[in-house]
Amino acid sequence: MSKPLRIIVIEDETADFLLLERSLRQHDMLAVCQRVGSDAELDSALQDKSDVVLSDYNVPGMDFGTSLQRIQQRWPDLPVILVSGTVGEEKAVELLRLGMTDFVFKGHLNLLPKAIQRAIDEGNERRARRDAEAALQQSQAAALEEQRVARLAALNLMEDAVAARARAEAANAELRKLSLAVEQSPESIAITNLDGDIEYVNEFFVQNSGYSREEIIGRNPRILHSDKTPKHTYDDLWHHLTSGETWQGEFINRRKDGSEYIEHAIVSPIRQPDGRITHYVAIKEDITEKKRAEAEIHRLAFYDTLTGLPNRTLLLERTTQALATIRRVGHFSSLISFNIDRFKNINDAGGQSLGDVLLRAVSERLTNILHEGDVVARIAGDEFCILLSDLAPQQQTAMHLAIWVSEKLHSCLQDPFRVGDELITLTACHGIAIFPDKTEDAPLDILRRANSALHHAKTKGSGQTSFFETALDEIARQRFDIERELHQGITAGELRVFLQPQVDAAGKIVGAESLVRWQHPQHGLLSPGAFIPIAEESNLIIEIGTWVFTEVCRLLAHNDMATLPIRISVNISPRHFRQSGFVDQIKQGLADAGADPARLTLEVTEGMVIDNIDEVIGKMNELSSIGIHFSMDDFGTGYSSLSYLKRLPIHELKIDKSFIQDLTIDPGDDALVEAILAVARLMHVNVVAEGVETAEQAAFLNLRGQVIHQGYLFGRPEQAETVIANMLKQ
Ligand code: C2E
Ligand code: CA
Ligand code: CA
Repeated sequence: MSKPLRIIVIEDETADFLLLERSLRQHDMLAVCQRVGSDAELDSALQDKSDVVLSDYNVPGMDFGTSLQRIQQRWPDLPVILVSGTVGEEKAVELLRLGMTDFVFKGHLNLLPKAIQRAIDEGNERRARRDAEAALQQSQAAALEEQRVARLAALNLMEDAVAARARAEAANAELRKLSLAVEQSPESIAITNLDGDIEYVNEFFVQNSGYSREEIIGRNPRILHSDKTPKHTYDDLWHHLTSGETWQGEFINRRKDGSEYIEHAIVSPIRQPDGRITHYVAIKEDITEKKRAEAEIHRLAFYDTLTGLPNRTLLLERTTQALATIRRVGHFSSLISFNIDRFKNINDAGGQSLGDVLLRAVSERLTNILHEGDVVARIAGDEFCILLSDLAPQQQTAMHLAIWVSEKLHSCLQDPFRVGDELITLTACHGIAIFPDKTEDAPLDILRRANSALHHAKTKGSGQTSFFETALDEIARQRFDIERELHQGITAGELRVFLQPQVDAAGKIVGAESLVRWQHPQHGLLSPGAFIPIAEESNLIIEIGTWVFTEVCRLLAHNDMATLPIRISVNISPRHFRQSGFVDQIKQGLADAGADPARLTLEVTEGMVIDNIDEVIGKMNELSSIGIHFSMDDFGTGYSSLSYLKRLPIHELKIDKSFIQDLTIDPGDDALVEAILAVARLMHVNVVAEGVETAEQAAFLNLRGQVIHQGYLFGRPEQAETVIANMLKQ
């Protein structure tokens, strides 16, 4: 059997810690978890080596960013996974950039074991790669040192030879020729003494600098300085000269008339026959023009003249660099191919100059929303590419981030462009490639994959995004179909409200939960699992929620029902709850139907408290004040549940069915359910147990407290009319 993992869990609530342990146990992950609730405890836990750190985001007295730093300082390779439901996508992205390894959202604790395993494997791989690199670097450094020693020896020999020759020819006429050559050289030549005072300059020096001999002799070459040459250049120069070595480099200097020029200089000490250094000589070439030409060539070769953005060549070069980084760091990157919809029509209608203005405006917006390290390139016409390097250690996370950027790109086009008096609205399609991919490794392949994804996106219509990944593409297509059909289905009256009874210990119906169904024209009666998760990703969930709520108001106001002392609960998704008009919508809906607010329970989940808890509490209080109850749904599947719960005005906890189903089988769950019942008693809230299927489960619960049961043992969700008829009979 393998060794258990050592896991540090940053978490203040004991019950939440137990939930997390349970989730790992359920996935057969052998682990010893150590709970940490303060900086001091974290430091002490970090004394020993661990395999991974799991952390909640909000732990009183601790700051996640600081914890991350402490961890990285002590164990740079230790993976840190954020396990929280209260951090928005944007924040998560920022934390990933800070070095957090991964994040698992609450309610997806089942993904945690995989995330842990992945983080550990990748950490190990990274470490192995780094060790190998360090060894390689060391051997390279040794080779360089050897080279340096050899070169020095050669230089010494040369110097000896030069000195000997100088001695021999000292009195020779050669010397006169030499001095003539120096004087007439097309390069600036200057000789200074050891203090740096100029003793000689040649004719070209005078011409190029604009200073006469009288002005310059006896002065320090510093009078040419422009302040633009980096300080380290001079440091390096003096370091060489004082060690008796020749130096080469570039200066940005200033002429007497103030104009700047760039010089390439070779500066050497002059040795006397006895080896003493008495002077320095500088030979300098004016390379201003050459530099300008080089920069221009570079610009033409690597940048697009219309927009000033990098061009295809530079993009490919940057992609090559990204691939090199990938080999070193092992992170995933992404290339997004971006194409403006119907651009040709715009160009045809408005002329090329309009097209050019738009392309420049689009480039500017793209550049503004991206991070510094991201590359936006214009490939051709209305085709752009965005390279996002070093996104994340996990492919899945890199995909999330790429989608997130793609969403940002879509929304940055939403504001119309003003060209003259005209407002023009643009959309674009995106094709996303994530790399490295197992099969390919060349920049052109990656570009091709992004383009083929783009092509696919365009077949779906305007403003679309596609991934280069066959499987993912298929899922995206299905989602798209469902979204479209659902939207039509709602207006076509294809939704149904089902009710599932809730009973007390004696079996008497005390309430019912409304559960939506979709009577699909081709696929028959669909369960929420087939469409609610998709609807939750857009405002469709609000349409559905509003529809169900209106239906339930109608049921509550119905004559038969009005006499029954029961509540009906409605599931409210976080997106719906967060809407600014939510409170008014509920009040108005009840009033329109003539329904009693005291018969309505709203089931909410922790997901609604993502950022503004005070606003959430305010809304809940306002609705509570007219008699509406709040029920915390799926309790136990999230994380950090208790810390939030304590602050929220709720009347009821619904223990998730996964806990109930293992009752009397998994002793861990028995203990947890008991703990939850204890919390509920302390907080004076009702408890509804979801998914009660057996008499044993019901008995277990009844023995331990006052629990309302909802489950197949007492009744499945059925047509509202059937359930209401049953209630009236009892
Ligand atoms: P939920 O709110 O947790 O609803 C309880 C789910 O547990 C229901 O599934 C119900 O049929 C099922 N269930 C009840 N008793 C038992 C049992 O004894 N055993 C088992 N195995 N399952 C049981 P359903 O109807 O498929 O709904 C699934 C989810 O869809 C709901 O989970 C809820 O999150 C969502 N949903 C359903 N209707 C709506 C709605 O009108 N609005 C929103 N926003 N979400 C809804
Ligand atoms: Ca529910
Ligand atoms: Ca539930």
